[in-house]
Amino acid sequence: MIASTLRSRSVSVGLRVLRDLGFVSRAANSSRRSNSLLILAYHGLSLRDEHKWAPDLYLHPDVFRSRLACLRSMNASVLSLEEALRRLATNSLPPRSVVITFDDGFYDFLHHGVPILAEFGYPATLYLTTHYCHYRLPIIDLALSFILWKCGRSDVELPEFGIHNPVSIVTYGERQAVMRSILEWADRQHLETIAKDDIARQLADKLNVDYEELLRLRMFQILSPEEVNRVASSGIDVQLHTHRHRTPRDRALFFREITDNRSQIREMTGKNPVHFCYPSGDYASEFFGWLAECGIQSATTCEIGLAEAGSEWMRLPRVLDVNHMNPVRFETIIAGFLV
Ligand SMILES: [Zn+2]
Repeated sequence: MIASTLRSRSVSVGLRVLRDLGFVSRAANSSRRSNSLLILAYHGLSLRDEHKWAPDLYLHPDVFRSRLACLRSMNASVLSLEEALRRLATNSLPPRSVVITFDDGFYDFLHHGVPILAEFGYPATLYLTTHYCHYRLPIIDLALSFILWKCGRSDVELPEFGIHNPVSIVTYGERQAVMRSILEWADRQHLETIAKDDIARQLADKLNVDYEELLRLRMFQILSPEEVNRVASSGIDVQLHTHRHRTPRDRALFFREITDNRSQIREMTGKNPVHFCYPSGDYASEFFGWLAECGIQSATTCEIGLAEAGSEWMRLPRVLDVNHMNPVRFETIIAGFLV
């Protein structure tokens, strides 16, 4: 812990030195950066303390606001995905081009994301997964993992969910493993979405975590159809992320994920989505042709990098912003330096 803190401090000092020596502004004004596009990826903005549980997935809203302030102070050109891709294809990107994307479509995006983006007048794309739009329930795997963290215990024994010996839940990885065991147990019982939610409630009750509060705050819940409509009406571009947040290798199942997702988004927004983001960044080369057959024009991954004119449009890189990212590091990323 001490070693990693020292390491991150020395990285931040190093980045500051590079900035003070002018390397960052030279990179920001370079022709390489002018001809490339930075696509930022976000998931959630905390309604309570989610960023302490999963800092790679959730940002504190103030951190997100500070990122947009940084984009503004660096004169970044924040574009809609549509415009950015058109200009990338015609080599006419403005300086320091950036696209802001959010994955999944959590309620917190409407609560925090839309108003903060509006403060800065920045466009954004929301890659929406649609299955949970019809349930006012938290996404089960996130809820289970959060409850295991929130209870503050070092281990659990859950014979009612097939875990018969105490297992450690100290680290994020250990909690994810317990969450997966519980979900495998639920699948063996053939439980569907609503029955699975009962598991989260039972786990919260057993571990003394306030499940009602989690529901009341709408934590880990996907937007309702009416809320998606509101988000789209506010100018947010709603695009594809599969219906059930998965990318099956079976062609027919893969097509079904896209067509179900697309028809739902069309119904909620009145617009036809043609851009896609791979759930969990999971993709295979056979998907590229399948997506083109579905009329999809671009697909983003979780691979780190800047998109360039020569990039494959079905495999566009992004940069995931995380709560603990040093502000100087964020500046260097906007500059296209060290991406
Ligand atoms: Zn996702």
